[in-house]
Amino acid sequence: MEKREELYAGKAKSVYLTDDPDRLILHYRNDTSAFDGEKIEQLDRKGAVNNKFSAFIMQKLEDAGVPTHHEGLLSDEESVVKKLDMFPIECVIRNITAGSLCKRLGVEEGMDLQTPIFEFFLKNDELHDPMINEYHIRAFGWADDEAVEKMKELTFRVNDTLTRLFADAGLLLVDYKLEFGRYQGEILLGDEFTPDGCRLWDAETRKKLDKDRFRQGLGGVVEAYEEVARRLGVDLS
Ligand code: ADP
Repeated sequence: MEKREELYAGKAKSVYLTDDPDRLILHYRNDTSAFDGEKIEQLDRKGAVNNKFSAFIMQKLEDAGVPTHHEGLLSDEESVVKKLDMFPIECVIRNITAGSLCKRLGVEEGMDLQTPIFEFFLKNDELHDPMINEYHIRAFGWADDEAVEKMKELTFRVNDTLTRLFADAGLLLVDYKLEFGRYQGEILLGDEFTPDGCRLWDAETRKKLDKDRFRQGLGGVVEAYEEVARRLGVDLS
């Protein structure tokens, strides 16, 4: 696999074309951003930890019947993925209250929800990723109804698989964000699953082990990601 020109530099990853028109290389950088890019820092080892973390989770999801873009690890900080036509949408599931939900509804953090909440957001930094619903998606043609249904179904399947996987490691999956895209007509899970895009708490102490440590200046960010990886059995060598 030959690495070609950079297609896109995001806030945390850079995307490269390859000699195969259907494959991309994702380079996980150490850059860590919050508040739509207002706070940015370099955190040692984060690129490599997230690359290996996401590869591990994508494999677990494939095993559970969720089709993903993941093909394999290329180096410490790089993975090979299928090139998707991404939907400009983020799919979120919340199991416990936290983050923007608390602000929006004036509820306290840490309430166990009676059933998971599913939310769509538009992927748009300038607009601060506004919350949208299926009518917006349909009216603006961001995805068709079949794709919307598929994304919801897969996001819930991810919840079933990962709440159990994390529970077995003594962790609570509070919430998470997924991005999907289309590949040869099929809807695949794209982007990443890492502690940058989800909330994970220790089940006993409720200590935060995700990007909220960075957002809230709690320190020990990468150490927390490594702790989660160690508990799951992710090979970080
Ligand atoms: P952001 O764009 O939010 O700053 P990143 O730094 O993570 O995010 O950049 C990665 C970009 O690559 C994202 O825009 C994501 O939608 C896109 N992407 C992830 N996986 C794929 C894929 N398989 N095919 C095409 N684009 C992808």
